[in-house]
Amino acid sequence: MKPRIALIAHDKKKDDMVALAAQYLDFLRGCTLMATGTTGGRLANELGLTVERKHSGPYGGDLQIGAELVEGRLDAIIFLRDPMTPQPHEPDINALVRACDVHNVACATNLSTAHLVLTQLKAASRK
Ligand code: PGA
Repeated sequence: MKPRIALIAHDKKKDDMVALAAQYLDFLRGCTLMATGTTGGRLANELGLTVERKHSGPYGGDLQIGAELVEGRLDAIIFLRDPMTPQPHEPDINALVRACDVHNVACATNLSTAHLVLTQLKAASRK
């Protein structure tokens, strides 16, 4: 089965997300992708990726992705959080990260971990 990955980036991390996805573009083209609204829009428009776009994070997108995860429909989340800026939807962010821990789903919240997760998923998908 194709790896199923959710991609979320806070505003100051969106450039990082686009650059990250560009590095793994061939691999990500072969994945089933889901993203919060604005992040997904950038990935689609700038990289041509096919992404199921949920609502924007502050409008419930994180919760929608959390629901997919709880239903067992995600293998990993790349969630580039901005630790320096207060977010209006902090409770939703915490709920999503908690759901990852409850269901033991890989959750990369910074670029270093994101590289490790994507490299591993890419290697595993070749087997
Ligand atoms: P966005 O949502 O991709 O719609 O900006 C991300 C977030 O802020 O959680």
